[in-house]
Amino acid sequence: MQPSGTDKQGMPGFPSRPVSPFAASPPRSAAPFPSSGPVIELETSYNPLTSLPHQPPMPTSGPGIAHPVQSIGYGPPRPTATPDAVISGTLSPRQITTPSSPTQGPFYSSKTTAAYPRFSSPFAPIPPPVGAHPTVQTSSPPAMRPQPFQPSVPPSGPPQTYIPPYSSMPPRGNAPLPPMDSAFSATRPGHPSYLQPTPSSPFPPSHGGFVPPAPVSFPFSTGSKGAPAQPLGSVAPPTGALQNLYEEFQSMSIGSAAGSMDGGINLNSLPRPIDSGAESTSIADAYPQNCHPRYFRLTTSAIPNSQSLQSRWHLPIGAVVHPLADSPDGEQVPIVNFGSAGVIRCRRCRTYINPYATFADSGRKWRCNLCSLLNDVPPEYFCTLDVNGRRCDLDQRPELTKGSVEIVAPTEYMVRPPMPPIYFFLIDVSATAAHSGMLEIVANTIKSCLDEMPGSPRTQIGFITFDSTLHFYNLKSTLTQPQMMVVTDLDDLFIPLPDDLLVNLADSRNVIDVFLDSLSTMFQQNTNVESALGPGLRAAFMVLSQLGGKLIVFQSALPSLGVGRLKLRGDDLRVYGTDKEHLLRVPEDPFYKQMAAEFTKYQIGVDIFACSERYCDVASLGTLCKYTGGQLYHYPSFRGEVHHEKFKFDLSRNLTRETAWEAVMRIRCGKGVRFTSYHGNFMLRSTDLLALPSVDCDKAFGMQLSLEETLMTSQTVYFQVALLYTSSSGERRIRVHTAAAPVVTDLAEMYRHADVGATISLMSRLAIEKMQSNKLEEVRQSVQLRITKSLKEYRNLYAVQHRLGGRLIYPESLKLLPLYGLALCKSAALRGGHADVALDDRCSAGHNMMILPISRTLKLLYPTLIRVDEGLLKGGQSTEIPSALPLTKDVLDPSGLYVYDDGFRFILWFGRMLPSELMSSILGFDSSGFVDLSKVNLVEQNNGISRNLMGLLRRMREKDTSCHQLCMIVRQGEQPHEGLLFLSNLVEDQSFGISSYGDWILHIFRQTQQNP
Ligand SMILES: [Zn+2]
Repeated sequence: MQPSGTDKQGMPGFPSRPVSPFAASPPRSAAPFPSSGPVIELETSYNPLTSLPHQPPMPTSGPGIAHPVQSIGYGPPRPTATPDAVISGTLSPRQITTPSSPTQGPFYSSKTTAAYPRFSSPFAPIPPPVGAHPTVQTSSPPAMRPQPFQPSVPPSGPPQTYIPPYSSMPPRGNAPLPPMDSAFSATRPGHPSYLQPTPSSPFPPSHGGFVPPAPVSFPFSTGSKGAPAQPLGSVAPPTGALQNLYEEFQSMSIGSAAGSMDGGINLNSLPRPIDSGAESTSIADAYPQNCHPRYFRLTTSAIPNSQSLQSRWHLPIGAVVHPLADSPDGEQVPIVNFGSAGVIRCRRCRTYINPYATFADSGRKWRCNLCSLLNDVPPEYFCTLDVNGRRCDLDQRPELTKGSVEIVAPTEYMVRPPMPPIYFFLIDVSATAAHSGMLEIVANTIKSCLDEMPGSPRTQIGFITFDSTLHFYNLKSTLTQPQMMVVTDLDDLFIPLPDDLLVNLADSRNVIDVFLDSLSTMFQQNTNVESALGPGLRAAFMVLSQLGGKLIVFQSALPSLGVGRLKLRGDDLRVYGTDKEHLLRVPEDPFYKQMAAEFTKYQIGVDIFACSERYCDVASLGTLCKYTGGQLYHYPSFRGEVHHEKFKFDLSRNLTRETAWEAVMRIRCGKGVRFTSYHGNFMLRSTDLLALPSVDCDKAFGMQLSLEETLMTSQTVYFQVALLYTSSSGERRIRVHTAAAPVVTDLAEMYRHADVGATISLMSRLAIEKMQSNKLEEVRQSVQLRITKSLKEYRNLYAVQHRLGGRLIYPESLKLLPLYGLALCKSAALRGGHADVALDDRCSAGHNMMILPISRTLKLLYPTLIRVDEGLLKGGQSTEIPSALPLTKDVLDPSGLYVYDDGFRFILWFGRMLPSELMSSILGFDSSGFVDLSKVNLVEQNNGISRNLMGLLRRMREKDTSCHQLCMIVRQGEQPHEGLLFLSNLVEDQSFGISSYGDWILHIFRQTQQNP
């Protein structure tokens, strides 16, 4: 049987395609797919181009748009009926309009135009480009630069305080010493102080974090000078003068004598996140009607009332939004349907009614809490007020009592019928993909998820595969098996049988099953090593541009053919430290940014599974995910037998998690403040509207806040996140989160209400973006500079009057800021230089940090390290997970077994003196003669110890069901494996020319003491 296809089959350079088990498509003439062949005009229920699918949500003229210059929405009153969405557009076919017309297309409007020259896309004017041969290469757009993410860290300028390079800092006295000589060894054997923090541990949760500070004269005790180490938790009684300040700040003794810098710090007393999470709750008490902090967290919940006060806050001020966050207890966001009353919104600023709105005039008016406008209450929504001025129907009105609601959007919020969930797969079937095992896992996993994909029975699905050519699959429900069609002309691309490439999953289920069953065998013998990814993306775009949807790309090699071809840029040592260093981390070919802009415009989100064994230019590929609200999954050195489990988990979650389609998000805020920059994966459609072709519960976004020039006089400022989207079930919804925060005139209040998790999450995003245009060293310095300035400012508030000369003081709320800042500098994205992290790994780490919710960011920065051998030997079935340890090699006992968990990986560290029977029980073989444990795939053995260990790992995974850790094994002393994989991640130790935690604190202390 001949696969239909190409006359290049069998030609030199085009190794024979494996025989397809599919029925050959109808024989073709020399012109395989004449343009007159396929159907050109689709009889779909509506023409997406007519209905402007790329701009459904917000009208430029509608009040839903907060106009750039009036972004808080105090413009002139607008028609009340216009919602957060474009309502114009009809559903009947008509001539194609230019999507980016300034009046109709908010896509590139206002200020954005400067950043994005309007893009006369080669794709833009094409109708669903069936049959027609798009002239894809002819009119390449000039300097299309979709860069909504200008690096938002203000240019550092000449720092006020000179920060010496990290490497120039004097090393901590004991830094290079082996573990047994360290300060921590004093508490051995058994490291009791770490394994079982005593109740007097410096940061016991019950203390609310407060620690009585040690006396100023407390001697340094890193152990390097023979001084006995201060046991963890042992603190001296506080000095009386400090007592009343306990609520205000923490302090830590530094230096044995005034002016002396060669001392140290009691390492045990350093703050660590190992006792409690960094959840902020302070504001929840004051504003119980706020949405849950998992949806919206401010970096400080006390908003400064003036720019001058803000200028003294040296950390980023803003928010982290996680609009679709999973609720750990399964709690659902209440659904509200306003029915005939229509969605109740402020007619001036378009705020949705919320618990902070107040009612007046016997219930006939309601006052907007964001802009204070008195609005009419529609008769259908009217209700009388009680003696306290509250509506009598409050208990039936979640929108008036809950910080988070989901409003059913009426038809005005649609420009077309809600789209069905669409999953389109673009799969690399080259020799590499087949040999690595990727192809088989992809096919099996997709098949296993078909029953659980959301949106049944409306869900649609389709496939293109590629190597040096593109292969399309007719999955029409009337077929008994799919038809494969091969297109070889990568430059003059066209789509055969466009009607039957994207099919209803339920209707075509049998054909799809046959296709997936045979996919991996079909290409098992493929010898073609080329990758025509770029043309494949264009083809997928052509298919998807009718309705939008989610494009999931599986890629196993550097794109080598056609448009979007990438070079092996490598990781050039000579470039590091020069002005060109950052270029390695940005896309090389503008094709990827252009495609991303097109995808977003047509409501297509792109997820990429990069499974390359070698360099695959994550920097370029990731662009597709970044601007389409997508996600990049990177499996370095991919091997099916190793990555199988994690890959399967990631793909299954991707396909089955609740996904929001054709979405836009806007965050409104009250008078005096506005959001000025946004950080995450999306395309900025206007100054403050985030376009999200698809978004899900695993995506969070950061944003920075600015103050207007005027002094804020109100006592409270309100924020409201509105995500307008189509649910998989086909309903148009608006998810609304509302929160309030106090306005303060006092810097100390800002510190008191600071949220270290949100701060670090936002700082990480800013640092990753800065990395796109700066040297790594500069990025790290800017992180450190911000922390130092912040603590110095804080010190100025208190130090002098309280004579805290020899102490580093810091607010309780930010006690972990220095540690997380250090960890950020040592993260895979930012650490070291050329040889320290492979370029792809660095870029993918950066991609992850741009989307992660706060809790996962913190876990990635300061992973959990636990000792497990003692529990395993006891044989107990305890469900307890052992206490976390400080991330330093000083805690590692050579006779122990430790598990390191950063949310992406488990690393099992086997001490070299770990009892061999324990090791054999876990590994399932005698490893005494076996050197390289890195190749071992951990599976459950038939013994109690192995079962206990696997059970423990399962429980650790269950703590966060959004991720699945890849399990890796390393044995003490196995170099360079141990160093690269494990020791380099112990962020408290000195590494990559960046100091240890103790030295870092010492250094920050010195900087805070210097005069400006
Ligand atoms: Zn208003």
